Amino acid sequence: MDHKTLEHLQHLDAAHHLHPFNDNAALAAKGTRILTRGEGCYVWDAEGHKLLDAFAGLWCVNIGYGRAELGDAAATQMRTLAYYNSFFQCTTEPTIRLAAEIAELTPGDLNHAFFTNSGSEANDTILRLVRHFWAVQDQPRKNIFIGRHDGYHGTTMAGASLGGMKGMHKQGGLPIPDIHHIDPPYPFGDAGDMDPEEYGLLAARRLEDKILELGPERVAAFIGEPIMGAIGVYIPPRSYWPEIERICRKYDVLLVADEVICGFGRTGEWFGSQYFGFQPDVMTIAKGITSGYIPLGAAIFNDRVAGVLAAQGGELAHGCTYSGHPVCAAVALENLRILRDERVVEHARVDIAPYLATRWAELGEHRLVGEARIAGLMGALELVPDKRRRGEYFPGRGKVGALCRDIALRHGLILRATYDAMLLSPPLVITRLQVDELFDKAWKALDECA
Ligand code: PLP
Repeated sequence: MDHKTLEHLQHLDAAHHLHPFNDNAALAAKGTRILTRGEGCYVWDAEGHKLLDAFAGLWCVNIGYGRAELGDAAATQMRTLAYYNSFFQCTTEPTIRLAAEIAELTPGDLNHAFFTNSGSEANDTILRLVRHFWAVQDQPRKNIFIGRHDGYHGTTMAGASLGGMKGMHKQGGLPIPDIHHIDPPYPFGDAGDMDPEEYGLLAARRLEDKILELGPERVAAFIGEPIMGAIGVYIPPRSYWPEIERICRKYDVLLVADEVICGFGRTGEWFGSQYFGFQPDVMTIAKGITSGYIPLGAAIFNDRVAGVLAAQGGELAHGCTYSGHPVCAAVALENLRILRDERVVEHARVDIAPYLATRWAELGEHRLVGEARIAGLMGALELVPDKRRRGEYFPGRGKVGALCRDIALRHGLILRATYDAMLLSPPLVITRLQVDELFDKAWKALDECA
């Protein structure tokens, strides 16, 4: 793109486009980066820079960029039947096939999909339908959801309320009523010298304390990301999720796994709940279901919940114009075909995860890194002032992380920063050679930042 066109577009962007999760005044002064093309694990910007995208867009481009098959699937479906809804006793073939395929892929008896356009809407859906599930069984007071401080479940009123991001709660009067939070499992921040598995149990028992405080007859569900992504890739010890599951079963509290990031191979397993060995009653998905090529989300219910909703729920007063959109479904089916036929999840687990873990641990040797944590293809480098002092942070948290992110970008590497943690989530199709490139660029960025 020539310089004049780029400047013109940046000017239009500053004048007319409000960017999510940005200080828009600061961005307007700086000028937004415009991306023009993607291929595999790389994207190119309007100035021609080639960037290794170690964040897969926003945790989502699992099969990598530039797969024409997905475009073909969309075009074919658009030409045949661009749209019909799933209201009014109707639907379309790709929508049905996708629902069946999700039932096949997801663990246990998660057999019933309610489609949305995004992960946030999927989490809105579970808030409403789970409350409805209890209400129609004469338990209308069993309506409280428990989430976690610093959890992220999206940006709608319900999604942001279920999440525990204080900055989000400040804007718009959140959380909405009857949503409570417990502290997350964050070993680096608060495990001290405890044995990690013991710490995992202790962190899980915060849920039991909260259920007993509120009364089990009031608690509808617990929701959590198997690995907390947005806050900084908090990876719980192995003991955490099985204990959460035990507690939920004990008090008949539904267990909701928000698999919007972890789903479709991010951990090297198809779902994060499989990585940790627990069985959710309800699951929300988005992102990796289409590898980000087109918007799509879903709430998936097990036989028990869907059975009650079907038998006693009456007409569901819930849905979006685009719930089960045929073009999105066709793209998702093609994406799942690629993930399956090209054994992408297996590639991530077997060929990449162990190698990436080794190289990530090497980055952990850098003097700026307090902890290098990783699970599958999802990791974080926690930048600290003194690596011998665990749990201590730079003053004005976030400045060093932002600096490191900007330096990495200058070296042609996209990492995301949350506070001073550098987050990693590359396309699952990344190769070992590209992992080496990632390592070299990240090390240079750390060196320049130190
Ligand atoms: N849940 C989790 C765990 C997420 O990370 C996100 C987005 O990053 C969402 C929900 C919201 O999804 P969306 O941005 O598609 O609304």
